[in-house]
Amino acid sequence: MPDETYADPPEAEAPEPGAPLAGLVLVSTPIGNLGDIAPRARQALAGADLILCEDTRHSARLLSAIGVSVRTEPLHEYNEDQRIAPVLGMLRAGRRIALVSDAGTPLVSDPGYRLVRAAIAEGFPISAVPGPNAAVMALVLSGLPPQPFLFLGFPPPRSAARRAAFGTLRAAERAGLTATLIWHEAPHRLAETLADMATAFGPRAAAVARELTKHFEEVRRGTLTDLAAHYAEHAARGEITVLIGPPEQEDQEDLDGQLTRALATHSVKDAAALVSAATGLPRKLVYARALAMGRPDETG
Ligand code: SAM
Repeated sequence: MPDETYADPPEAEAPEPGAPLAGLVLVSTPIGNLGDIAPRARQALAGADLILCEDTRHSARLLSAIGVSVRTEPLHEYNEDQRIAPVLGMLRAGRRIALVSDAGTPLVSDPGYRLVRAAIAEGFPISAVPGPNAAVMALVLSGLPPQPFLFLGFPPPRSAARRAAFGTLRAAERAGLTATLIWHEAPHRLAETLADMATAFGPRAAAVARELTKHFEEVRRGTLTDLAAHYAEHAARGEITVLIGPPEQEDQEDLDGQLTRALATHSVKDAAALVSAATGLPRKLVYARALAMGRPDETG
């Protein structure tokens, strides 16, 4: 018979404040400032039977600082697949398991997604203690439109792949994507990445958020061209998140204008083929935009 302590609470009934979180709990931890650990995060960690850590030695410092001494085991990119079956076995036995990454919200550019997906498939209760996240903090400090935003993790480290990735995004923008774009980047690659961004996206409003929540916190705002020039001269240090604002209206109108003209006399399919040939943009992307716009007589 399952231990009722770990059973799902009935839907209408909220758990008692302070009750141990059952099943798998994803616990966000600070991105640099220990003061950002939430009381509920501490409680979830202290009440766990096991804490899965991206790096047990790294998390040991946090756990010791907040007075938590619970068994830890590693769960990282390279062992996640092998860890899933034993962890599901422990959840089946009614254990409370917490997952943390080195910093911020687990799963976001961090391990844990495959475990969460497997736990959901098996019907185990999953909860999360929300908290710090570098991308969202950078977004709200950037002065760029907060929504929609598109978080892209790290850009490809190799230049050719990075330029290709930026080219694909730029084509998606021409086909209608309009969002603030967010990436993580390593300090030693920042200058070359910003240069590639300036080439692909032009002199667009952007921001570089560095060392958030730490002593040397800084958010530098400017055009991509200015930021690329600055970091070409001044080597960046610390942890970095890069943001680019959405395209200016003209970029969008460029494609929309051509499609409007083509749609006046052609089917959506033919208009997409014509504009794709004229602009060099992938046909699929142009077709998606043409579909979204519709033929003039179909929009009523
Ligand atoms: N899971 C984390 C989160 O929720 O923010 C992100 C983990 S990702 C592996 C680590 C990257 O996030 C760093 O290389 C850096 O690009 C960005 N980052 C982490 N902490 C940061 C900080 N304090 N300031 C700016 N960027 C940060």
